[in-house]
Formats: sequence, C-alpha cells, structure tokens
Amino acid sequence: MHGLMQNWPLTVDKILDHAKRWHGATEVVTRTVEGPVVRSTYGELHARARRLSNVLLGFGIKRGDRVATLAWNTARHMEVWYGAMGIGAVCHTLNPRLFAEQLVYIINHADDRVIFTDLSFVPLLRDLRPRIPSVERIVILTDEHSAQACRKDELIFETLLNEASPNAVWGGFDENTAAGLCYTSGTTGDPKGVLYSHRSNFLHTLSITNADVFSLSARDVVLSVVPMFHANGWGLAFVCPGLGCKLVLPGPKLDGPSIHELLESEKVTFTAGVPTVWQMLLAHLRETRGKLTTLKCIGVGGAAVPDATVRAFRDEFGVQILHAWGMTEISPIGTVSSPTNATASLSAAEQFQVSLSQGRTTMLMDAKLVDDAGERLPHDGKTFGRLMVKGPFVVERYFRDEPTQKRLDGEGFFDTGDVATIDPHGFVKITDRAKDIIKSGGEWISSIDIENLVMAHPKVALAAVIACAHEKWSERPLLIIKLRPGESAAKNDFLAFLEGKIVTWWMPDDVVFVDDLPLGATGKIDKKLIRKQFADYRLPMR
Ligand code: AMP
Repeated sequence: MHGLMQNWPLTVDKILDHAKRWHGATEVVTRTVEGPVVRSTYGELHARARRLSNVLLGFGIKRGDRVATLAWNTARHMEVWYGAMGIGAVCHTLNPRLFAEQLVYIINHADDRVIFTDLSFVPLLRDLRPRIPSVERIVILTDEHSAQACRKDELIFETLLNEASPNAVWGGFDENTAAGLCYTSGTTGDPKGVLYSHRSNFLHTLSITNADVFSLSARDVVLSVVPMFHANGWGLAFVCPGLGCKLVLPGPKLDGPSIHELLESEKVTFTAGVPTVWQMLLAHLRETRGKLTTLKCIGVGGAAVPDATVRAFRDEFGVQILHAWGMTEISPIGTVSSPTNATASLSAAEQFQVSLSQGRTTMLMDAKLVDDAGERLPHDGKTFGRLMVKGPFVVERYFRDEPTQKRLDGEGFFDTGDVATIDPHGFVKITDRAKDIIKSGGEWISSIDIENLVMAHPKVALAAVIACAHEKWSERPLLIIKLRPGESAAKNDFLAFLEGKIVTWWMPDDVVFVDDLPLGATGKIDKKLIRKQFADYRLPMR
C-alpha cells in the first residue's frame, strides 16, 4: 500500500523558489571579479536565474546537456547553477586551478556545450578553444562596460539576461535527473566525473541543515569561501537559500586581508573552507592585530585541521572550528565533529581531542572500516582500516562508467581511499589517504599526525610529511617545512620538538626546508607533486 502524501519531487529549483517566496529580501553580497562589492537578494537572484534558463533554452540546451562554469563564487555563478539545473540541464563546475591539459580532458569528457566564464579566465579559454570542439558558446560573466572586445562565439552575460524573457518553467522532471557534474582532482589516473542528481543534492542539503552539522539558521550570515567549483561547493549554494541565511560570496579574492574585510563589513557569523585559507587569515590577523567581532564558527575540511589552528582561533579570537570530512564523491560532507551528550561529559582535554577528529557521520550517511580483505574492523578508536561509506548522496559509479562497472562492495559501500579509525562514540579519525600513509617495516605511520604536530611549532608556516624509499624499512618519513617569513631554524629543532609527542619509530629520518610547498587545485598541499619533487631524495643512513 502506498502512502497518501503529496508526490513532490526533490528538485533543487524548489530550494530557490522557497528562498524567493520566504526570504526574498535576504541579501546575497558578492565581491565581484570587476572589483566592487555588489548587493542582490534571493528574490533578484531567482528572477535572474529564470531569465538565464530562457537564455539556455534559446541556445537549444536540453535536459541532460552539460552547461559548464569556470568561475569564482559570485551571485552570477549561482544564477547559472539554478538557471541550468532548473530546466534539467547539468551544471558542470570546472576548477580553474587545474592544468590546461586536465581542463581539456574534462571539458571533452563532459561534452560541455556552453561555458560560462569569469573575465579572469577568458585568455585561458581562448587558448583551449581549438581543443574543445563540443563547446558552441562562451558566455562571459560580466556586463558590456567591463567586457573587452569579444570574439564571435563569446557573449556577454548581462546583455543576454537583459534580452531574455522573464519567465521560465522549472522542474517537472524526475528527482533522479542529473543536476551537477564535478570532477575529482584526479590524484591517480584521469579525473573522474561525479554526477549529482537533484535528489542527492536535495537530501545532502537537508542533512547539512541539521543543527549538529554547521548549526546554521536564518539568523546566520555565511561567507562561502569554499569555491563553488570544489566538491559541489560543500552544498552551501543550496543550504543558504534553503535556510534563508544572508550569503556573502568572496569572488576571486581569498587572501587574508580580503577575507577579513568581508567577515567584518558583512557581519559574518559562519564561514567554511580548507585549512590553508584559515592559516592565511590567522597570519594576517596576527600581523595586523585584527579582530573577529561577529564570527562564531568556521567549518574546516578538505584536509586535516592542525590543532594549533583550532587553539589559535579559540584562544585568540573566541571562534570555534568545526572539523568536517568529506569528498567530491559524497556530495561532499560525510562527518562533522559536533559533540554528543556522551562526549560532552568527557574531560576538557578529551573533548578537545574529539573536536580534532573528523567527527561523526551526518544524517543518512553510513560508514564502516574494513581490512584489505574487505572484512569489517571494530570501532574501538585504535584499529585502523579503509573507510567505506554508503548513503543517498554517495556516488554509485562515475560519469561514463559502463553500467556494469562496480565501484561499490557487496554491501553497497564506496571505498573512500582514506584510512581511518572510528571510536566507540562513532567519531572518525582520518589517519591518512591510503596512498600517503608511510609503510615502515610493515607498520603504518600517519603523515597527517606528524604534520599537525609540527604545525604547532611557532616557526612553521606549512609542513608536509612524505614517504621516502628505505632499504631496510621499505619507507621512512621525510619532514618538509616551509618556515614563516624571516625565521631560521635547524633540523634538530623540529626533531627535538617531536620527541615525546610521537613514538620513536615515527620520528622523521630527515628534515628539509623549502621556500614553498605546492598547493593543489583545491587549495590543499599537493603531496603527489611533492613526492615527485623528492622522488630521488636519499635519506641519511641511520
Ligand atoms: P576532494 O574530493 O578533493 O574534496 O578530496 C577528498 C579527500 O580529501 C578525502 O578523501 C580525504 O583524503 C581528504 N579530506 C577531506 N576532508 C578531510 C579532513 N577533514 N581531514 C583529513 N583529510 C580530509
């Protein structure tokens, strides 16, 4: 027997419809690529996204066609998301930090028909143009005044919107229709496309609006630092209109001073992004003796947050860091380190350790640990194994995989490629990426743990630990450090600093100082590149 409730397909256009109707006057503030900070509202954004849908229909875009964006976080970018998704087209977010070769591969693989780009990337796209034949048009996200001379196949966003008719019909299709496409950074092999559906995005949005995730409500002001092109923008372009939060979008400027300015001028209460952004903000605040007068919480994920960062924001600025773990393949938020009644009654030191973990699963997300044979491992906080997840916003298979391609285990779990422990309270601690872990004499050393400890040293700006080949132990850790400006140090300073904090056999065999550590396309330290740079490195004999 079926229930007798309304059949209301979970399509994301309804989220913006809701925002327009019930939070229509709530502001969306953008630092534009052209420079000035501009103000819009959910009501205006909705109207413009509708016009954009008509522009796309005029281009002949049909359901399922891929509409790409190569853009920073701005209101215009959001208008393209909703304008495309609302008519059943697939919004494909391109990451401008990828190498040209990777972009060409991804655009061709996705078969993108249109690309909406910020002015910043027009020269890049012009270079790629001969190698991306599926792209019929390029739309520049600007107005006539700011656009330089356009080529024949390049159009201006504002001109198109002005000429478009105001009403388009959204929705009316199955909730399993594809909505968004986002390629993983491709740390191994070619990038892989994760094809989100309306339903998966809708359910992910609902799970994020849970108080135990980011504790957001209509009274919050959210600065979305995490780029919309990285991992579904952590869902914030759906969550904020869904809840009616004022939304602040930083455009191209993600440096400490620019972020600080927006946090203060817009009275931001919550922001989110990868750890490196917050380390830059911290350095700026310390240098300028800056204050954070309205910010309450920062959601940090994408890479492990060092405890020095958590302490600094808490003790110097009264800001809570909420540590989250996720990945493109899971829409992306999987766990968040919010306490439970059980953990809230632990000692202060233990509670701090809980807050440093990647946290417990969000609603609708299931997780397990398995060994190499796929057997379940205990959740005792000590045994580590491969972290597997399952849920309605976890990938089943990648875009253009054969339907027979198996990406899940027999129980329907997806292998995250991360190695983790889960404690009896259900808190996940990521030990490492499976390929970053250091295998020393059959035992495993967590590069993340050593990096986080070293990051607490006052002279350190950034640290990375990688595996180096070793005759006897197979692999041993090498510590690579970028010092803060003006600092100097000796190798032994750091080995002495680690003494007593880690077991002796985890101690790095060598320390190397570098001027810079490469960041990958999503702002995380690029271990793959560092491993390449140090491929011929010989550890001193011990
Ligand atoms: P991406 O799909 O680019 O977001 O990368 C996902 C990967 O980033 C995960 O599989 C983890 O290896 C890593 N990651 C994400 N969040 C965290 C975190 N809080 N701590 C440690 N690693 C993380």
